Amino acid sequence: MRIGGIVHSSLIDWEGKIASVIFTKGCNFRCGYCHNPYLVLPHLIRKTRDIPVEEVLGDLEERKEWIDGVVVTGGEPTIHADLPDFIGHLNAMGLLIKLDTNGTNPEMLRYLIVNKLLDYVAMDIKTVIEVSQYQEITGCSVNGITSLITESVEILRSSGISYQLRTTVIPGYHTDEILEQLNRELAADYYVTQPFREGENICFYTDMSKICNGRKAF
Ligand code: SF4
Repeated sequence: MRIGGIVHSSLIDWEGKIASVIFTKGCNFRCGYCHNPYLVLPHLIRKTRDIPVEEVLGDLEERKEWIDGVVVTGGEPTIHADLPDFIGHLNAMGLLIKLDTNGTNPEMLRYLIVNKLLDYVAMDIKTVIEVSQYQEITGCSVNGITSLITESVEILRSSGISYQLRTTVIPGYHTDEILEQLNRELAADYYVTQPFREGENICFYTDMSKICNGRKAF
Protein backbone atom coordinates (compact mmCIF):
# COMPACT_ATOMS: atom_id res chain seq x y z
CA MET A 1 0.00 0.00 0.00
CA ARG A 2 1.51 3.32 -1.00
CA ILE A 3 -0.09 6.41 0.50
CA GLY A 4 0.73 9.85 -0.84
CA GLY A 5 -1.58 12.10 1.12
CA ILE A 6 -4.18 12.51 3.81
CA VAL A 7 -6.83 15.15 4.41
CA HIS A 8 -7.73 15.00 8.05
CA SER A 9 -11.26 16.25 7.87
CA SER A 10 -13.51 16.79 4.87
CA LEU A 11 -17.20 17.63 4.56
CA ILE A 12 -17.31 17.37 0.76
CA ASP A 13 -15.86 13.96 -0.14
CA TRP A 14 -18.70 11.87 1.35
CA GLU A 15 -22.11 13.47 1.37
CA GLY A 16 -23.51 13.76 4.90
CA LYS A 17 -20.34 12.48 6.54
CA ILE A 18 -17.28 13.98 8.20
CA ALA A 19 -14.46 11.98 6.68
CA SER A 20 -10.73 11.73 6.48
CA VAL A 21 -9.45 11.21 2.95
CA ILE A 22 -6.57 8.87 2.14
CA PHE A 23 -4.85 9.24 -1.23
CA THR A 24 -3.14 6.11 -2.53
CA LYS A 25 -0.30 6.29 -5.04
CA GLY A 26 -0.37 4.82 -8.52
CA CYS A 27 -3.02 4.36 -11.19
CA ASN A 28 -3.52 2.19 -14.26
CA PHE A 29 -5.10 5.08 -16.19
CA ARG A 30 -3.66 8.35 -17.45
CA CYS A 31 -6.76 10.54 -17.78
CA GLY A 32 -5.62 13.84 -19.27
CA TYR A 33 -7.90 15.87 -17.00
CA CYS A 34 -6.68 14.12 -13.83
CA HIS A 35 -5.85 16.71 -11.19
CA ASN A 36 -3.66 14.32 -9.19
CA PRO A 37 -0.61 13.85 -11.46
CA TYR A 38 1.63 13.45 -8.39
CA LEU A 39 -0.34 10.34 -7.48
CA VAL A 40 -0.35 8.90 -11.00
CA LEU A 41 2.78 9.64 -13.05
CA PRO A 42 5.76 7.55 -11.84
CA HIS A 43 8.36 10.30 -12.28
CA LEU A 44 6.25 12.60 -10.10
CA ILE A 45 5.35 9.89 -7.59
CA ARG A 46 9.07 9.42 -7.00
CA LYS A 47 9.38 13.05 -5.94
CA THR A 48 6.84 12.72 -3.16
CA ARG A 49 7.02 11.10 0.22
CA ASP A 50 5.33 7.79 0.95
CA ILE A 51 3.43 8.17 4.19
CA PRO A 52 3.94 4.96 6.17
CA VAL A 53 0.75 2.99 6.72
CA GLU A 54 1.50 2.82 10.45
CA GLU A 55 1.65 6.63 10.57
CA VAL A 56 -1.71 6.92 8.82
CA LEU A 57 -3.34 4.33 11.09
CA GLY A 58 -1.92 6.01 14.19
CA ASP A 59 -3.24 9.36 13.04
CA LEU A 60 -6.72 7.94 12.41
CA GLU A 61 -6.72 6.13 15.74
CA GLU A 62 -6.16 9.46 17.49
CA ARG A 63 -8.95 11.20 15.60
CA LYS A 64 -11.50 8.43 15.11
CA GLU A 65 -13.94 9.96 17.60
CA TRP A 66 -14.17 13.11 15.51
CA ILE A 67 -14.91 11.59 12.11
CA ASP A 68 -17.59 9.27 10.72
CA GLY A 69 -15.40 7.48 8.27
CA VAL A 70 -12.61 7.39 5.72
CA VAL A 71 -12.65 7.95 1.98
CA VAL A 72 -10.01 5.82 0.26
CA THR A 73 -9.18 7.42 -3.06
CA GLY A 74 -6.20 7.87 -5.35
CA GLY A 75 -4.73 7.27 -7.74
CA GLU A 76 -6.54 3.98 -8.00
CA PRO A 77 -6.77 2.20 -4.63
CA THR A 78 -7.68 -1.21 -6.05
CA ILE A 79 -4.27 -1.74 -7.71
CA HIS A 80 -2.87 -2.38 -4.21
CA ALA A 81 -3.13 -6.03 -3.21
CA ASP A 82 -3.05 -5.14 0.49
CA LEU A 83 -6.03 -2.77 0.25
CA PRO A 84 -8.32 -5.25 2.10
CA ASP A 85 -5.86 -5.43 5.02
CA PHE A 86 -5.65 -1.66 5.20
CA ILE A 87 -9.42 -1.22 5.14
CA GLY A 88 -9.77 -4.02 7.69
CA HIS A 89 -7.69 -1.94 10.14
CA LEU A 90 -10.01 1.02 9.59
CA ASN A 91 -13.11 -1.15 10.09
CA ALA A 92 -11.65 -2.37 13.37
CA MET A 93 -11.51 1.25 14.54
CA GLY A 94 -15.25 1.49 13.91
CA LEU A 95 -14.84 3.77 10.91
CA LEU A 96 -17.13 3.70 7.88
CA ILE A 97 -15.40 3.30 4.51
CA LYS A 98 -16.06 4.89 1.14
CA LEU A 99 -14.02 3.65 -1.82
CA ASP A 100 -13.40 5.72 -4.95
CA THR A 101 -12.50 3.54 -7.92
CA ASN A 102 -12.17 3.62 -11.69
CA GLY A 103 -13.81 0.20 -11.87
CA THR A 104 -10.96 -1.73 -13.51
CA ASN A 105 -10.57 -4.31 -10.74
CA PRO A 106 -13.91 -6.10 -10.31
CA GLU A 107 -12.19 -8.98 -8.55
CA MET A 108 -10.97 -6.69 -5.77
CA LEU A 109 -14.27 -4.84 -5.65
CA ARG A 110 -16.19 -8.10 -5.22
CA TYR A 111 -13.80 -9.28 -2.51
CA LEU A 112 -14.18 -6.05 -0.53
CA ILE A 113 -17.98 -6.14 -0.78
CA VAL A 114 -18.37 -9.85 -0.01
CA ASN A 115 -16.18 -9.42 3.07
CA LYS A 116 -18.27 -6.43 4.19
CA LEU A 117 -15.31 -4.06 4.16
CA LEU A 118 -17.10 -1.19 2.39
CA ASP A 119 -20.03 1.09 3.20
CA TYR A 120 -20.13 3.15 0.00
CA VAL A 121 -18.54 3.04 -3.44
CA ALA A 122 -18.15 5.87 -5.95
CA MET A 123 -17.14 4.51 -9.34
CA ASP A 124 -16.07 6.52 -12.36
CA ILE A 125 -17.76 5.96 -15.66
CA LYS A 126 -15.28 7.86 -17.80
CA THR A 127 -17.38 7.77 -20.95
CA VAL A 128 -19.60 5.36 -22.84
CA ILE A 129 -18.33 1.84 -22.22
CA GLU A 130 -16.63 1.25 -25.57
CA VAL A 131 -12.98 0.35 -26.11
CA SER A 132 -12.04 3.29 -28.35
CA GLN A 133 -13.79 5.84 -26.13
CA TYR A 134 -12.18 4.52 -22.97
CA GLN A 135 -8.73 4.39 -24.60
CA GLU A 136 -9.06 7.98 -25.73
CA ILE A 137 -10.14 9.49 -22.44
CA THR A 138 -7.92 7.38 -20.17
CA GLY A 139 -4.83 7.50 -22.41
CA CYS A 140 -4.45 3.77 -21.81
CA SER A 141 -5.14 0.44 -23.37
CA VAL A 142 -6.27 -1.89 -20.59
CA ASN A 143 -6.98 -5.48 -21.65
CA GLY A 144 -10.68 -6.28 -21.57
CA ILE A 145 -11.53 -2.79 -20.38
CA THR A 146 -15.22 -2.85 -21.33
CA SER A 147 -15.75 -6.22 -19.64
CA LEU A 148 -14.01 -5.01 -16.48
CA ILE A 149 -16.05 -1.82 -16.22
CA THR A 150 -19.31 -3.63 -17.01
CA GLU A 151 -18.57 -6.33 -14.45
CA SER A 152 -17.84 -3.74 -11.76
CA VAL A 153 -21.13 -1.99 -12.48
CA GLU A 154 -22.98 -5.30 -12.27
CA ILE A 155 -21.27 -6.11 -8.96
CA LEU A 156 -22.42 -2.79 -7.51
CA ARG A 157 -25.95 -3.21 -8.82
CA SER A 158 -26.37 -6.62 -7.24
CA SER A 159 -24.45 -5.90 -4.02
CA GLY A 160 -27.05 -4.10 -1.96
CA ILE A 161 -24.36 -1.59 -1.00
CA SER A 162 -24.90 2.15 -1.52
CA TYR A 163 -23.05 3.36 -4.60
CA GLN A 164 -22.70 6.18 -7.04
CA LEU A 165 -21.61 6.14 -10.68
CA ARG A 166 -20.12 9.40 -11.86
CA THR A 167 -18.66 11.10 -14.89
CA THR A 168 -16.35 14.11 -14.93
CA VAL A 169 -17.62 16.14 -17.87
CA ILE A 170 -14.85 17.46 -20.12
CA PRO A 171 -15.96 20.39 -22.29
CA GLY A 172 -15.22 19.58 -25.91
CA TYR A 173 -14.99 15.87 -25.29
CA HIS A 174 -18.27 14.76 -23.71
CA THR A 175 -20.79 15.63 -26.39
CA ASP A 176 -24.52 15.84 -25.77
CA GLU A 177 -24.81 12.46 -27.51
CA ILE A 178 -22.33 10.84 -25.10
CA LEU A 179 -24.06 12.31 -22.04
CA GLU A 180 -27.50 11.33 -23.31
CA GLN A 181 -26.30 7.77 -23.89
CA LEU A 182 -24.80 7.58 -20.39
CA ASN A 183 -27.97 8.95 -18.79
CA ARG A 184 -30.01 6.41 -20.73
CA GLU A 185 -27.81 3.41 -19.92
CA LEU A 186 -27.42 4.35 -16.26
CA ALA A 187 -30.98 5.52 -15.67
CA ALA A 188 -31.53 2.85 -13.02
CA ASP A 189 -28.42 3.79 -11.05
CA TYR A 190 -27.57 6.75 -8.83
CA TYR A 191 -25.66 8.50 -11.61
CA VAL A 192 -24.17 11.99 -11.38
CA THR A 193 -21.95 14.22 -13.47
CA GLN A 194 -19.31 16.53 -12.06
CA PRO A 195 -17.50 19.42 -13.71
CA PHE A 196 -13.92 19.30 -14.98
CA ARG A 197 -11.67 21.22 -12.61
CA GLU A 198 -9.10 23.61 -14.02
CA GLY A 199 -5.62 23.24 -12.58
CA GLU A 200 -2.43 21.26 -12.84
CA ASN A 201 -3.40 18.05 -14.57
CA ILE A 202 -1.90 15.15 -16.48
CA CYS A 203 -2.31 17.08 -19.75
CA PHE A 204 0.44 19.35 -18.51
CA TYR A 205 2.87 16.44 -18.60
CA THR A 206 1.52 14.55 -21.61
CA ASP A 207 0.19 15.25 -25.06
CA MET A 208 -3.53 14.95 -24.43
CA SER A 209 -4.65 18.50 -24.98
CA LYS A 210 -7.92 17.40 -26.61
CA ILE A 211 -9.01 15.70 -23.42
CA CYS A 212 -8.32 18.92 -21.52
CA ASN A 213 -10.29 20.99 -23.98
CA GLY A 214 -7.09 22.47 -25.38
CA ARG A 215 -5.87 23.66 -22.00
CA LYS A 216 -2.55 22.16 -21.01
CA ALA A 217 -2.82 23.29 -17.39
CA PHE A 218 -3.02 26.04 -14.81
S1 SF4 B 1 -8.65 10.59 -12.90
FE1 SF4 B 1 -7.86 8.86 -14.13
S2 SF4 B 1 -5.60 8.98 -13.96
FE2 SF4 B 1 -6.48 10.24 -12.30
S3 SF4 B 1 -6.59 8.91 -10.54
FE3 SF4 B 1 -8.59 8.79 -11.55
S4 SF4 B 1 -8.46 7.06 -12.96
FE4 SF4 B 1 -6.35 7.58 -12.35
